[in-house]
Amino acid sequence: MIKNRQKYPFVSSSLFTSMRRQCVLIVDDADININNGSLALEGMCEVISAKSGTLAIRLAKERRPDLVLLNINMPGTNGFDIIRTLKSDQYTRHIPVIFMSKVESEAEEAESFALGATDYIAFPQNATILQARVSIHLHADMQRKVLERLSQVDGLTGVLNRRAFDDSLHQHFNAVFGSDKPLTLLLMDIDHFKHINDTLGHLRGDDALRLVATTIAQQVNPELDIVARYGGDEFACLLPDTDQADAWKIAEKIRLAVNRLEVGDRQAGTTRLLTVSIGIASTFDQLYSSCQDLIAYADQRLYDAKKQGRNKVAS
Ligand code: GH3
Ligand code: MG
Repeated sequence: MIKNRQKYPFVSSSLFTSMRRQCVLIVDDADININNGSLALEGMCEVISAKSGTLAIRLAKERRPDLVLLNINMPGTNGFDIIRTLKSDQYTRHIPVIFMSKVESEAEEAESFALGATDYIAFPQNATILQARVSIHLHADMQRKVLERLSQVDGLTGVLNRRAFDDSLHQHFNAVFGSDKPLTLLLMDIDHFKHINDTLGHLRGDDALRLVATTIAQQVNPELDIVARYGGDEFACLLPDTDQADAWKIAEKIRLAVNRLEVGDRQAGTTRLLTVSIGIASTFDQLYSSCQDLIAYADQRLYDAKKQGRNKVAS
């Protein structure tokens, strides 16, 4: 049992984690503005609020709202200070910000856009206009996220593609580099896959790739672990907060689950059993200076597993 695993704010294997109900953060020191905004918007999205800059920045990081409505003219940390902080943080810089201002000032409006605001609205705000504006920005944000998600997914198998995996590996590796937190990489390759293509045809080969991808994804935690098609018949799995001993158990679980799969046509008697070989590399057990080192080590262990007769795990 793996304990105390935290969710990292990087790309997730679960396709639908980003498809929750959209959320708007209203930042304003005046209760009346927060109440009016909440009343206008609560039918179309979840509304959260903050009355200070410090709380706004904390909520933006923790809750990742899809849109921030930000009053420029607040005492202490004002709206311009808040947007500068949000736009300088890699986890909040993509959140669209609409500025709300008491006065309609061209200079203020120009500065808002220069600082990265998506829109600028003057108070007092008619509820219908506010709803329409927020609706346009939430819709655009949803479309952007869907497109971003599609660009991260392997079209054949539905797990992450190589590029998304490489990005995620970099982020996770940098996050644990120099710390005592473990991060483990599994590299997996289907055994004698060419034989399946050659004897059953490429479409059955594609079925096998989909089956193996789904089976690997079912053996890990979709909220925490990253599963990707690394290329051809090779898959990768990144296990954050997981040391080599626990990763070995997961790798064995994957190996046994794939070992129960078959592809082909039972009635025609043309089925083939599937197996995978798995190489493990864990940051905790050895010092790696880069992601490339970690991948190279897992690749060597995968090669060992193949040499040991395939359908094996090696670390
Ligand atoms: P080994 O046990 O050593 O891994 O042998 P193997 O036959 O599996 O050899 P290898 O991993 O090199 O074979 C990969 C094959 O995967 C070669 C390529 O034709 C096939 N392949 C790559 N992408 C696809 C795909 O999208 N669909 C299908 N059907 N086949 C693919
Ligand atoms: Mg292979």
